[in-house]
Amino acid sequence: SGQDYRYERSAVIDLDAIRHNVRRLAAAASPAKVMAVVKADAYGHGAVPVARAALEAGASWLGVAHISEALALRAAGIDAPLLAWLHTTDSNFGAAVASGVDIGCSGWELDRIVAAAREQERPARIHLKVDTGLGRNGSTMANWDTLVGEAMEYQDQGLLRVVGIFSHLAVADEPERPETDHQLAAFREALAVAEDAGVDPEVRHLANTPATLSRPDTHFDLVRVGLGIYGLSPFDGQSSAELGLQPAMSLRTKVSQCKHVPEGQGVSYGLHYRTEGASTLGLIPVGYADGIPRVATGGPVRVAGKTYPVVGRIAMDQMVIDLGPEAPAAGLLGAEAELFGSGADGGPTADDWARAAGTINYEIVTRISPRVPRRFV
Ligand code: PLP
Repeated sequence: SGQDYRYERSAVIDLDAIRHNVRRLAAAASPAKVMAVVKADAYGHGAVPVARAALEAGASWLGVAHISEALALRAAGIDAPLLAWLHTTDSNFGAAVASGVDIGCSGWELDRIVAAAREQERPARIHLKVDTGLGRNGSTMANWDTLVGEAMEYQDQGLLRVVGIFSHLAVADEPERPETDHQLAAFREALAVAEDAGVDPEVRHLANTPATLSRPDTHFDLVRVGLGIYGLSPFDGQSSAELGLQPAMSLRTKVSQCKHVPEGQGVSYGLHYRTEGASTLGLIPVGYADGIPRVATGGPVRVAGKTYPVVGRIAMDQMVIDLGPEAPAAGLLGAEAELFGSGADGGPTADDWARAAGTINYEIVTRISPRVPRRFV
């Protein structure tokens, strides 16, 4: 409850919103299936509760970057198909094979995966990744037929199964750009090469959230959706509500001090803000150690139904809003303060903070630090 001391500051996670968003994306993706991307602690929302909610709402796969993230989900008892796609030479391929975690493979991983499969006496499940233009991980198109050929030799020896073939899009959030078409054509070419080599994958997957919403021709068998399940919009100039999505994270605290100050009062380190007249300052006990970017001065905080911009520098633990001369200082101590939330009633959103910080909504929610307790409702 709000009385619980642990929740003096909290990121409230609305699991009904997660479920709603998964159903919305599943409808857009159908007949393709949904992989809920829950890397980075479910973009800051809490990987285990979000994974469970997403599976309840119809996601049939989970996706993470690191094998360690996948193992944490397995340790929580989640046994859904689960893919991890970003590795180092220290990654624990043996544990992935032992736990039935699917392993993304761009090239060098193949021999290590096979060694792990031999050690575990169990075939590995792999998804071959091709770089169709993003220039990050994935096999180059030039090396693709070699990789596919080697993987098929190992599959014939019973050491692995090529469960999936996938790639990742670079500009799907900008639907007017032509590169998505180029990537789609390259992906089709890579699939044809794989098919010629005898690969018969269960799932071919390319689309992220923006492609799921705007490019049905990229859906194939499975879409990998992250941002959308958290209710955030990947498109500049299109809100969550316009996409039928509900932001799931709300960052809340209470006003921790409220005081009348004279004209010219400097505020926070550097004294870059000064009150224009006598006014009332409200102290918000959230700062950059909690994950709010220090550069985001001007970001919104809603108190008692009104939204105020942060004034002065954001500090490690706190920030200040100028409530104006009329504010009842004593009356606002302990008032609920919301930095962002569903936005449904005109309240502040993660999009607003992204604009204030010169970044994207992905980064705002993902950076909310472990110092802020998550409260699941
Ligand atoms: N697929 C891969 C390989 C990713 O790295 C990510 C996240 O960056 C996603 C899918 C999900 O993207 P989005 O959050 O835009 O849906």
